[in-house]
Amino acid sequence: MSDNHKIAQIESDKCIGCGVCVATCSSEAIVLGVDFKASVNPQVCTGCSSCVDSCSTKAISMVDRQTRSLSVKVLKFALGATIKILTKIEKRIID
Ligand code: SF4
Ligand code: SF4
Repeated sequence: MSDNHKIAQIESDKCIGCGVCVATCSSEAIVLGVDFKASVNPQVCTGCSSCVDSCSTKAISMVDRQTRSLSVKVLKFALGATIKILTKIEKRIID
């Protein structure tokens, strides 16, 4: 059953790239990257949780959609701040 408040999340450290979850997801929300790590497209995932039991390494869990969205925003902010600091350091080294 679909739950629009939930979304699948994959722990890349646990993913062995077997592709079983990709075949299991009828919404085609999971793809394997060039690094053979699975990832979920949040705009396509319906929250049905079918993929969770398909993963033999327990890499997939269902999380609250809003919590994940907040985590992504925090990560993007931290990444942006890090890039600004590195750019300043690079400028000082070059000048
Ligand atoms: S089923 Fe699990 S280990 Fe296999 S590709 Fe999906 S997330 Fe990775
Ligand atoms: S929860 Fe359902 S729709 Fe979302 S990735 Fe897993 S199988 Fe696909």
